[in-house]
Amino acid sequence: MKIETLAVCAGEGVDPVTGALVPPIHLSTTFERGEDGEYRHGYMYARNHNPNRDALEQALALLEGGAAALAFSSGVAASMAIFQALSPGDHVLVPADVYHGTVRLLEETFVRWGLETSFVDMTDPRGVRGALRPNTRLVWIETPSNPLMKVVDIAAVTEIAHAAGAVVVCDNTMATPVLQRPFAHGVDLVLHATTKYLGGHSDVLGGAVVAARRDDLFERIAGIQIAGGAVAAPFDCWLLLRGIRTLPYRMRAHTEGAMAVARFLAGMPSVTAVHYPGLESHAGHKVAAAQMSGFGGILSFEVEGGEPKAMQVAARVRLITRATSFGGVHTLIEHRASIEPPGRSTPRGLLRLSVGLEHPDDLIDDLRAALA
Ligand SMILES: *Cc1c(COP(=O)(O)O)cnc(C)c1O
Repeated sequence: MKIETLAVCAGEGVDPVTGALVPPIHLSTTFERGEDGEYRHGYMYARNHNPNRDALEQALALLEGGAAALAFSSGVAASMAIFQALSPGDHVLVPADVYHGTVRLLEETFVRWGLETSFVDMTDPRGVRGALRPNTRLVWIETPSNPLMKVVDIAAVTEIAHAAGAVVVCDNTMATPVLQRPFAHGVDLVLHATTKYLGGHSDVLGGAVVAARRDDLFERIAGIQIAGGAVAAPFDCWLLLRGIRTLPYRMRAHTEGAMAVARFLAGMPSVTAVHYPGLESHAGHKVAAAQMSGFGGILSFEVEGGEPKAMQVAARVRLITRATSFGGVHTLIEHRASIEPPGRSTPRGLLRLSVGLEHPDDLIDDLRAALA
């Protein structure tokens, strides 16, 4: 079936007990044993499994075209479980402009765990080959990147990593399975901050690991999740499944809006750069066009006058909201360098936009007035 249909149907049918079309939220932390001591319905304790989480995980696996999925309490909790599945002395390759929360995990927590990390520019796959070490166990891809929207050739990097015996993870948060299919390019694990587009309404925090195969690595991550308890709560799973129902149509509208806004900004004399893979002028446009079915809802732009001017523009929008994060129905603007730790390559005059579901004409009017 097509992804629109999967999004509507995946994870849960009509409730067999009540006939309810929308699933109930199961808050019980514990489940009854039968007279024979068996758990008749397969549920024992909520940290291990819960019906709402099972339904969400089924839906996530179906949407990505994977074999199995795990729903976590946040995106970084999901990333953490992947790194915890590695061993001290293992080497990890990540993109130089990977999500700053991933940097923080590696540099603050996993350095003490004994993981070695290298940051490389993955826009040229040869950079990945050059950075491999005999102990490289994991190559982490994030594409498009945040906030410069750099594009990594998933298939090329995966081939190089696999030839060296490393596992490949793709953080697919920004593209979603609607626009980008990492498993089709050979990736082993897909990561999501479901907080963003999958939830889609800025009201739930969550993460996911989806696996191409139910192999030893997947079972190790699943074991770590149950042992550590970084599980998504029942109501959060319910909200996420509800968000997923409309994901394919939301992604179309986000993409359409972002393209219109990007074209508008590219035509403004006071805008010195627009970073959006949908623009032919973008360095990653060709690769993005080949591996994505749409260019997504996020873009960033730089204004003449650097940080003070960027702050002024952000201060003067009326419809758009100044806030971090992305993937919701409201358009958000953010001066990214202010939230990121020092040492990142984000230009000081850069503003990131998460284009929501308002009409693009209204967003353009708001930006035109703010830029003026
Ligand atoms: C937000 C985000 C994360 C982390 O997700 P949280 O739910 O905030 O923990 C990871 N990767 C990317 C690309 C993100 O945008």
